[in-house]
Amino acid sequence: MSDITLGIIGSGQLGSLLCQAAKKLNIKTVIISDDQQGPAQNHSDQFIFAKYDNKDKVKEFISKVDIVTYEFENIPIEILKSIDKEKKVLPKPDINQTVQNRKLEKTFINDLGIKTTEWAFIKSAEDVKKNEKLLPGILKTNTLGYDGHGQFVLDSLNDVKKDWCFTADYILEKKVNLKKEISVVITRYLNGETNIYEPIENVHKDQILNHSKIPAEINEEIFIKAQNNAKLISEKLDYVGTMCVEYFIDQDDNLLVNEIAPRVHNSGHLTINAFNINQFSAHVSAVCNLGLKKVEKISNAEMFNILGKEIETYRSKTFNKNEFFYDYGKKIIKDKRKMGHLTILKK
Ligand code: ADP
Ligand code: MG
Repeated sequence: MSDITLGIIGSGQLGSLLCQAAKKLNIKTVIISDDQQGPAQNHSDQFIFAKYDNKDKVKEFISKVDIVTYEFENIPIEILKSIDKEKKVLPKPDINQTVQNRKLEKTFINDLGIKTTEWAFIKSAEDVKKNEKLLPGILKTNTLGYDGHGQFVLDSLNDVKKDWCFTADYILEKKVNLKKEISVVITRYLNGETNIYEPIENVHKDQILNHSKIPAEINEEIFIKAQNNAKLISEKLDYVGTMCVEYFIDQDDNLLVNEIAPRVHNSGHLTINAFNINQFSAHVSAVCNLGLKKVEKISNAEMFNILGKEIETYRSKTFNKNEFFYDYGKKIIKDKRKMGHLTILKK
């Protein structure tokens, strides 16, 4: 029986699934979250509702835990760093600082000799004009993006509206003519050993993940390169825990990194049923230094995200033995909000 208490920042579905994995490993969990209704409180041992800049509450959180991790990357970096002075935060706050900033993230990846989409840093309409060769493209806020929030498609310079005032920093990315999207989920342990899941094929709708499947229909070269890149990225970041590398494959079979998620990832949900050790359990084992157990595939699988009102039909459905329905238990149904998922195991 372990007596480790893991602190988790954030209380959404990723936090819930982390708590459930921790429980199975006899690790206690304490969550701090600024969402009073965060569903992960139904699975954690303790829940602290607080704004992240509430020093007293953060102090209380720190006093209750041995080690801290997070379920989302958009946490103010100063807060992660101040927690890290008292209790170790994994993945390290510096990693988060790089990855939550698209410019730093892409520069880091390109410096490793790994291709991303073509991109430019943008501060003004003038900068867009200078980078017209990247159109049609997508203008993305440099920080704080998720599920397509903060993204604007620019087909031509005419789409840059006169009243846009560019109050934030952006990057402009050339629009890739996508053949496919894939992701690689990898867990790296304190001693540098890694467990890499096979590439997962992802389909997005309106910039939100719609469904994922294994095996990905890709050639062997891309399979190996996608895994090797993910391994190199995790090593260079000196990463501890589970992370995900999202990739684009273009019509000429170029493999381009889209972005890194410094956390467990939606596309990895199928690992819960399709592998002996899932991404959440691997993450908890890595950050709590419980040691590596080899990951093995049990079955092929397909995972479908359930968004908004779709959850209502699923809640009253019956499922086959190879179908696994997860209801995140979110009280408020919102359009496009991730409410649950269904994983179907396949031959
Ligand atoms: P988020 O940070 O919101 O996840 P992403 O940059 O991963 O944003 O974009 C979400 C989705 O939008 C991608 O998975 C892809 O389907 C589409 N997308 C984003 N950038 C591009 C691009 N440059 N070319 C083609 N599709 C893109
Ligand atoms: Mg993404």
